[in-house]
Amino acid sequence: MTTATTLPAGRTVSADTTAFLSRSRDLFIDGRWVPSCTGQTMDSFDPGTGARLTSFAVADSEDARRAVDAAYNAFDDRKPWRTMTASTRARLMFALAALMEEHLDELAELEALDSGKPLAVARDFDVAYSIRHLRYFAGWANKIEGATIPVDVPDMMCRTERTPVGVSALIVPWNYPLLIACWKLAPALAAGCTTILKPSELTSLSVLRLAELSVEAGFPAGVLNVLPGLGNVVGPTLIEDPRVQKVSFTGSTRVGAEIARRAAEGVKRVTLELGGKSANIIFADANMDHAIAGAAAAIFSNSGQMCNAGSRLYVQRQALDQVLDGLTEVASAIGVGHQLDEGTQMGPLISRQQLDKVKSYVDMARSHGADVVTGGSADATDTDPDGTYYQPTVLTGLDESSPVVREEIFGPVLTVLPFDSLEEVAQRANASDYGLAAGIWTRDIVTANRLSNLLRVGSVYINTYGQSDAAAPFGGFKKSGYGRDMGRQNLEYFLETRTVWTDLRM
Ligand code: NAD
Repeated sequence: MTTATTLPAGRTVSADTTAFLSRSRDLFIDGRWVPSCTGQTMDSFDPGTGARLTSFAVADSEDARRAVDAAYNAFDDRKPWRTMTASTRARLMFALAALMEEHLDELAELEALDSGKPLAVARDFDVAYSIRHLRYFAGWANKIEGATIPVDVPDMMCRTERTPVGVSALIVPWNYPLLIACWKLAPALAAGCTTILKPSELTSLSVLRLAELSVEAGFPAGVLNVLPGLGNVVGPTLIEDPRVQKVSFTGSTRVGAEIARRAAEGVKRVTLELGGKSANIIFADANMDHAIAGAAAAIFSNSGQMCNAGSRLYVQRQALDQVLDGLTEVASAIGVGHQLDEGTQMGPLISRQQLDKVKSYVDMARSHGADVVTGGSADATDTDPDGTYYQPTVLTGLDESSPVVREEIFGPVLTVLPFDSLEEVAQRANASDYGLAAGIWTRDIVTANRLSNLLRVGSVYINTYGQSDAAAPFGGFKKSGYGRDMGRQNLEYFLETRTVWTDLRM
């Protein structure tokens, strides 16, 4: 089906991107583009203008079963994916990474248009890091080793082998659509699994383009399937199918818990990367310019739509005024605008629903007596009235009794709270259902390490915030989930261990 592309007025994208948007996309199952069983499609929108970008097929349960058929067949011992050497598997992954690099600008334009993130961020972070992930894990593909175990049984050899867990369902959110897909896809492929990737219904475009590139890279049919559609339709079918052995999910804690319940019935392996409400802690002795800039970036990057956003800022009392002044200066200078415009540092939120959620938390903050230090409104200069923009916002005057401080807002809203001592701030930082990340800003390495040891979180950033690398594991404690994305550790979650005993006397 051919569709008309509506690009925002006065904004241009490459011919490749225009060509991609000019056609509705089908589902990608078994190496082919197929319409959904119901023929249903969905539109994707530019959150910066509300304009329709293109449309794509929406999978239903029957399509999900077809995708599992494809992934299960491709996992058969006699099929190319299972008989090829690990080095060949790695070569395919390197080829896909090279194609992504070749199409970097196009992938970045699609990602920016679809998700609202500034173009430069989409290019230099999302797409660039997706490529790095593929290359990092491609490097592991032929280095997966078992061990020889020194058992206490004479003349007996005991060794372990690592074998892929099997068909893996990879369910991802909208805030880093391509990158989080690659966090999961890269280790799954390196391990030798076959995959069904379920993007968010709000941001399916970059992953659909990835599927096209995977054909060009030479992946056998059925190894990578992409199923855009509604999570509550496709998800349960994928999770309940006995042929799916592994579910790797990133998204909200509510959906993650539901997935874990369903997966438990089938004793599926599950990795959950969920929500957060991370504490960022500034001591009075910190390098203040550095700490203030870092605290602002920790909440305003990606319009605050980051699972590890430093959304609760604790400031040692004697530095509170200085930090609030600094944050006001930084926040009011942030260029809010359309994601394709040069100079935009913060784009729109993903959807009207997300904008309404942010507004309602700021309204609640006001009703709880908060002081809105800066921002607090959806009015941003020179932005499209149909876009979903919100100003960088800093609130004070609340404590942990307010849901604004406890709950994940997933927007550019920072609550700032004073503290006095290390023990007190450790206890308050930990008094959260979540345990994803925390930041510490101090010149005192003893303070930094003592506090780091006390924090019940999966990542601690000392004098920095939100660092990420394909080699460094990332994930949460408590309701922020279990298992880890990234790093060697995530490879383990796509592998099983087989222990083999051989009697050497025979
Ligand atoms: P979401 O939970 O609504 O959706 C995530 C994905 O799950 C989407 O693809 C959706 O279609 C699918 N889904 C929805 N219902 C489902 C169901 N019943 N069964 C199976 N799949 C289903 O989350 P979102 O709104 O897309 O993303 C925002 C959330 O993601 C935030 O809470 C954020 O903290 C979290 N997140 C966590 C991390 C991390 O690494 N910890 C990273 C990014 C985002």
